[in-house]
Amino acid sequence: MNGSIADVCIVGVGAVGGILAKQLTSAGLKVVAFERGPALKTAEYAQRDSISYIARPDQLEGVRHEPRIFRTSTTQPGNLRYGTSPFNVLGGSMLLWTGQASRFMPGDFKVYSNEVASGLADRAGVDLRGYDVVDWPIGYDDLEPYYERFEWEFGVAGVAGMNPFAGPRRKPYPLPPLKMTARMQLFGEAAKRLGYHPFIGPAAVTSEPYRPPAPYDTRIPERPACVYCGHCNHYGCHVNAKASTLHTAIPVALQTGNLELRTNCKVANITTDDGGMATGVKYFDPNGVLQEQRARVVILSAFVFEHVRLLLLSKGNGKRFKKGLANSSGLVGKCFFGHGDMRVYGLFDNFIINGFIGSGAAAMRIDDFNGNNFDHTGLGFIRGGTVGCSGDGAPVSRMDIVPPDVRSWGKEYKEYFMRYYTRTFDIHMAPETLPRRDNCVDLDPRRRDRWGLPLPRVTFAFHANEKRMHLFLADIGERIFREAGASKVWTELPRPSPTRQCGGTRMGTDPNHSVVNGYCQSHDVPNLFIVGSSVFPTMSGYPATATISALAYRTAEYIERQRDWFH
Ligand SMILES: Cc1cc2nc3c(=O)[nH]c(=O)nc-3n(C[C@H](O)[C@H](O)[C@H](O)COP(=O)(O)OP(=O)(O)OC[C@H]3O[C@@H](n4cnc5c(N)ncnc54)[C@H](O)[C@@H]3O)c2cc1C
Ligand code: SF4
Repeated sequence: MNGSIADVCIVGVGAVGGILAKQLTSAGLKVVAFERGPALKTAEYAQRDSISYIARPDQLEGVRHEPRIFRTSTTQPGNLRYGTSPFNVLGGSMLLWTGQASRFMPGDFKVYSNEVASGLADRAGVDLRGYDVVDWPIGYDDLEPYYERFEWEFGVAGVAGMNPFAGPRRKPYPLPPLKMTARMQLFGEAAKRLGYHPFIGPAAVTSEPYRPPAPYDTRIPERPACVYCGHCNHYGCHVNAKASTLHTAIPVALQTGNLELRTNCKVANITTDDGGMATGVKYFDPNGVLQEQRARVVILSAFVFEHVRLLLLSKGNGKRFKKGLANSSGLVGKCFFGHGDMRVYGLFDNFIINGFIGSGAAAMRIDDFNGNNFDHTGLGFIRGGTVGCSGDGAPVSRMDIVPPDVRSWGKEYKEYFMRYYTRTFDIHMAPETLPRRDNCVDLDPRRRDRWGLPLPRVTFAFHANEKRMHLFLADIGERIFREAGASKVWTELPRPSPTRQCGGTRMGTDPNHSVVNGYCQSHDVPNLFIVGSSVFPTMSGYPATATISALAYRTAEYIERQRDWFH
């Protein structure tokens, strides 16, 4: 399609880009999709090499050339950071994800109304100066049918109705839950004794061989059942039991004959015309030569950091976009946030747990301290996080679970390790972060990537609301461990940088206070769409993938309806 005009140009073919490609090509649109990484074969992405995949991701080809700068304040120059979100291959980070596939709760979409306007924040005694809390322009009910589509096309295993805090659903999960592990049992029983409401976390991992039935997309190939190998989180699944677009949506999109996939092609900027419409993209081809592809619609599905970078790099020539494309609000890059990932660890003298074993997404959780599910009066913070245990630790990564009073080397470490390697597990908390404009992504003024483009620069710090929430949730985790009979318990508070990143191109109804509308469509450039967690106005205690997938299905449907764009 080089030289001609594509109906749609997709930038980034990971979780979101894969779904968009399937839906749009199936609707008969001609799509050119750019992916800056290669299309890996199973043997290449499923290596169980813990050094590269977990300890030193900068060794990975898909990470090495795409660092970002991280700093905690504007006075610092910042340091290089290498991460696997995004993982630059066809299929994106969804190849490496753990597979935890929860929907957001209905209240997650209405944080301003429920927690600020209602007076709850005042009762909690929280000072929200500096925070910029808003409602989403859409709610749980708008996404419910698309959550369902995601669950049935990607094969989610779980128990509907087990979590009393979950939103209503029309259909159960398509698959029964994954097998229980010892840690799930210990956690669940202790949480129940404390009066909490443990539930089995939904997992996009096939507990049985699975192919979507009608009315869902029956063209998606069958996947075998999980073999509980323990190498989930950070690795590609060698049997494709863990859902990824590489083995579901992308093959179907290719089958339509309407998809031209250009791998090893990095998009450098979005082009526009004098009328302010997007006209296509400029990209580096596999030989590093700058090329152009024209399109009627451009969709960014390249994850948070790249969305901000591409918009800021696409200033255009005239006055119109001098702050960057789609940035009349000045909000591109602002209100960046993520989870303050934290863990409480427990040692057990009376149980063998084998914490390294099982599927990464085989999880037991409670939502009693998530979102707005508990009384915040006097706590000094609003919102919360999920608390639970899952198998997100492969064998080697569990070697550094060492209590603070034990040396992590020499004889003492060896003795500890011999006794306790099989007798530990961790309770994982995913506390939310509220949005603030001073937590942001912009372009580094000096450092560039191998294509000569400025690196994305993150400026981020946790503030009072989060810090109080972290301590509160740590206490809950420790309480559950003590109830479960742990002989030693210790907490690892969050590192300075957030995980499961969101924000930077906020969704909203007011063009002065948001970048895209409820269909992920730019307020300023109507034929430009930005899809992914970058559009989240606020977050949830859950990770993002089920929600961004639902947004991708919904956005694709909206684009398909604009038939007059494609004559
Ligand atoms: C180890 C790990 C565990 C995780 N576990 C979970 C979990 O349990 N549950 C959950 O919900 N989420 C989890 N996640 C997060 C999940 O992977 C992401 O939410 C999801 O993949 C994001 O989808 P995306 O399409 O927005 O981005 P990605 O899937 O990362 O895809 C973005 C794609 O865009 C491409 N791209 C970027 N820039 C360009 C450019 N300029 N030109 C061309 N292509 C470009 C990238 O190469 C990439 O392929 C995990 C992530 C990791 C790394
Ligand atoms: S535990 Fe299951 S889903 Fe995870 S990598 Fe192994 S086979 Fe795949």
